[in-house]
Amino acid sequence: MKKRIVTGDRSTGRLHLGHLVGTLQNRVRLQDEYECFFIIADIQVLTDHINSHEDIDANVFEVMCDYLGVGLKPENCFFVQSQVPELSELTTYFSFLVSLARVQRNPTVKNESEMYGVSQMSLGFVGYPVSQAADILAFKANLIPCGQDQLPHIEQTREIVRTFNNTFGKEVFTLPEALIGKVPVLQGLDGVQKMSKSLNNQINLAHTTDETLLRIGKMVTDVQRVYRKDPGHPDSCFTYKYWSIFAPDAMPHVRTECESATRGCKECKMELASYLNIQLGEIRERRARYASQPDLVWDILATGTRRARQVAEQTLVEVRDAMHLSFPRLAKAAERMVQNGSA
Ligand code: SF4
Repeated sequence: MKKRIVTGDRSTGRLHLGHLVGTLQNRVRLQDEYECFFIIADIQVLTDHINSHEDIDANVFEVMCDYLGVGLKPENCFFVQSQVPELSELTTYFSFLVSLARVQRNPTVKNESEMYGVSQMSLGFVGYPVSQAADILAFKANLIPCGQDQLPHIEQTREIVRTFNNTFGKEVFTLPEALIGKVPVLQGLDGVQKMSKSLNNQINLAHTTDETLLRIGKMVTDVQRVYRKDPGHPDSCFTYKYWSIFAPDAMPHVRTECESATRGCKECKMELASYLNIQLGEIRERRARYASQPDLVWDILATGTRRARQVAEQTLVEVRDAMHLSFPRLAKAAERMVQNGSA
């Protein structure tokens, strides 16, 4: 039996370069080796979009197009979090295994509340790592391809595994491992914060070539380089970091030309944008093909969601059994009532 990958994204809009190098590339690479479950976390959107979540349906579609666009195969299990109610049940059980103090010290939750300007965190926001643990463990994941900011959540999940198994005396869950992408955290185009749609410092996978040129054109460069004739300092240039990530083979000649002032910053950024556009070309074409067939995309999601419910329900049977919440006599009584025609 293949080991399992479980990972996913919130449905807040289109995915960007940070998602690509942080986790999507690993998912594509490993999708044949593992049985994969890709969750589109729409409930988790409510953490910081409780007053503006009317686009969730459209955003789920956009995320699906991005997934298929990067090369994830339709045969994988793609599903919508809210449409698998077993996950909410498991979240409820897990919430009794984690102290309030423990969820309150999660550094990622703290950072996100500051980054997204959420001054009063709801119970759902503080506790969403517990919900994420349910998403992972309902499918008994072995590996979680994710960004570095997700590590505290994976650690929380591992703690829940140990606590659950110890408390109820059964090895229902196994410990999942995190797999960090080749770029653990991609800084956005402002060079200050993590790439994020909310901060508008991103390049979406679906941006056009012109949009990419425009956005890269605004990137910060070497602040010490005032005039074109001044030699540049690649090591203190944020744009050069992007060269190291997206076109490392070109770094030696970019460095030489920068330090000798034979390359201007504007042309350097345009060349970088061209590299990116070439790399994203195939993804964009495939994405556009799926986006033009919405019925096909929704069918893939419906098939995956049905499959996800089946697998999660199997886990819930084990969980309820371990917790003495399966009530066989109650189930038999319900059966009798159906047979007697009194239900
Ligand atoms: S030429 Fe390129 S690497 Fe050099 S400072 Fe300008 S943007 Fe940075």
